Amino acid sequence: MLARSQAKGDAVSGDKILLTGGAGYIGSHTAVALAEAGYAPVVLDNFSNAKPSVLERLEMILGVPVALERGDILDRAFLADVFTRHEFGAVIHFAARKAVGESVARPMDYFETNCCGLTALLRTMEASGVRNLVFSSSATVYGEPDVFPVPETAPRWHTSPYAMTKLASEDLLLAMADADPFWAFGILRYFNPAGAHESGLIGEEPDGIPNNLMPYLAKVALGELPHLNVFGDDFPTPDGTGVRDFVHVMDLAEAHVSSLRTLLDGSGGHAVNIGTGEGSSVMQMLASYGRACGRDLPWKPGPRRAGDVAKLVADPSLAASVLKFRTRRTLDEMCESSWRWVTRNSR
Ligand code: NAD
Ligand code: UDP
Repeated sequence: MLARSQAKGDAVSGDKILLTGGAGYIGSHTAVALAEAGYAPVVLDNFSNAKPSVLERLEMILGVPVALERGDILDRAFLADVFTRHEFGAVIHFAARKAVGESVARPMDYFETNCCGLTALLRTMEASGVRNLVFSSSATVYGEPDVFPVPETAPRWHTSPYAMTKLASEDLLLAMADADPFWAFGILRYFNPAGAHESGLIGEEPDGIPNNLMPYLAKVALGELPHLNVFGDDFPTPDGTGVRDFVHVMDLAEAHVSSLRTLLDGSGGHAVNIGTGEGSSVMQMLASYGRACGRDLPWKPGPRRAGDVAKLVADPSLAASVLKFRTRRTLDEMCESSWRWVTRNSR
């Protein structure tokens, strides 16, 4: 069934949703979930961290093309032109730089893309009368929390320039919502996105040697890296390795549909965690990926990575009550879908 937009939208255009950064990892999966829910996603991307072929993959999955607007969110003339040519019911804002280590070396690039990109988008939305925005935030806004599972009321603070940009963006949106009832914002704090679409046609494609656990394991499973370095085996967790709340990227994609519906039906803004509420250790992930690829994967214990917390698990109860959203997929499904994606695309 087609969703309806605010009063300004008409029957067709009210269902158009702009996805900035929609060709990226989470954006492309969300385009699938939105189209399957009856919306018409329009992808805006400058392809700084994605390939144009993602659009062909989306068409293979959906059987219909997904509209593309190629350009930069910092380019206000381009944004104004896009909003003139489409009448959007809402925007989902994924476009950002996201590498924590790089943000330490190049903080200005991060503030420019992540914060100035957001203000450029908001100015254009305001001028066009588009008031609903779902924003990609992150569990990084909780810094190193000491409460488990982490509720949305946990203190927010930053541990990197990347985290500063997410915190500043959240604070801007919260202040704008307080200042002007015109705006409705859905702030989604993602925990650890993992896995790929079940087709194996879209997935995560990091450049070079991955920093994150699942893409690193994928390269070990493919034989492109010799073993997993386990960063710390003396944490206060059941097996001594770090524990995270891995959330299947298609569950995460569906959370955006729930957030959007909540905004579009006039229920108001929200800032919620998106996670499973279940923690998985590095060793549990290693075993699960081994099941997916059919062999035990080699690993070596090593020192802790600087800044890593022992455990980061979401309290997902607010998302359940406000968005009626619950994750459905398991850790094994995340690993199986990741393995399908990398075997279809890396050989
Ligand atoms: P991604 O890099 O795969 O996707 C971001 C997309 O934005 C890319 O396609 C890139 O080409 C595009 N982009 C970047 N700068 C742009 C610009 N100036 N103009 C237009 N397009 C631009 O990242 P992702 O993993 O899909 O993350 C999406 C969002 O979710 C980001 O805001 C990120 O900070 C946030 N997030 C990601 C994770 C994660 O683990 N992947 C966790 C928490 C939050
Ligand atoms: N990890 C690891 N080896 C790796 C990458 C990650 O042992 O090569 C561990 C890391 O220390 C953490 C968990 O895996 O405990 C998840 O790390 P990731 O970087 O994927 O997520 P984040 O730490 O950003 O939540």
